Amino acid sequence: MSRVERIETRRTKLTEGLVISRALPTRQQRMVGAWCFLDHIGPIRFEPGGRMQIGAHPHTCLQTFTWVIDGEILHRDSLGSEQVIRPLQVNLMTAGRGVAHTEESLSSGSTLHAAQLWIALPEAEKDCTPAFDHYPDLPGWEDGGCIFTLLAGSYGGRVAPTRLHSPLVGMDVSCSSRSDIELHLDPGFEYGMLILEGGVMIENEHFDREGFAYIAKGGTKATLELHAGSRILIIGGEPFDKPVLMWWNFVGFSHEEIAKAQHDWESGDPRFGFVKGSEGRRLEAPELSLS
Ligand code: MN
Repeated sequence: MSRVERIETRRTKLTEGLVISRALPTRQQRMVGAWCFLDHIGPIRFEPGGRMQIGAHPHTCLQTFTWVIDGEILHRDSLGSEQVIRPLQVNLMTAGRGVAHTEESLSSGSTLHAAQLWIALPEAEKDCTPAFDHYPDLPGWEDGGCIFTLLAGSYGGRVAPTRLHSPLVGMDVSCSSRSDIELHLDPGFEYGMLILEGGVMIENEHFDREGFAYIAKGGTKATLELHAGSRILIIGGEPFDKPVLMWWNFVGFSHEEIAKAQHDWESGDPRFGFVKGSEGRRLEAPELSLS
């Protein structure tokens, strides 16, 4: 039986009218494999006139990974990409040496339910060429009354097309009626499991919505009992070999890299490019303070 740890998620304000639940990083657990950031957004219905509107901001040394369950988000980036992401699709932006993007609702008063994650790039790939990928068709199947969608990596002989730079997995499991499943774990991976809807017993430990379970590497299986109407996001990966620094929207391996990225963003360096359609909505970095 795998040992399950309970990680406390925390609620934080993303933008006006949008409070999210953050599962990574936390004091207890900085990363799960290369997954270094995990926000659960919604489910929310914005007030009339309200919408998600995140102005142009930069990223380095990471991939942003968006999984939408309900609603629509328009992504624009400085590579010239413009892509609406809809339910059961993944958007993946590889920042590498630097990219900027915006994210917004298509209309006001709409609904949104999504998970937003970051994947840290390994040190050898930190300055790679930026890229944007949209995955509208991911491997999906039914088993034990549950619907499985493979978001990244491989599981049970299936392989997701998602562009990856380190061994990891991402999977969404949902059910309409009470279901029991046995998950096969890769003993070289650590895992995180976030309850997006409903409630789930993981190895006889109960987790409510927003509950985040951690399983250290070495496990080979985990038994899950999903209540009716539950949905769980499962992430895993080989423990990252080097701790990463995170500041604002930057990931890096040294203070110097982060300070340089911040300076380059503040000075309008062409490194991050320009997001067409983002005129006048450029986010400012907070004053740099890395301990
Ligand atoms: Mn972003």
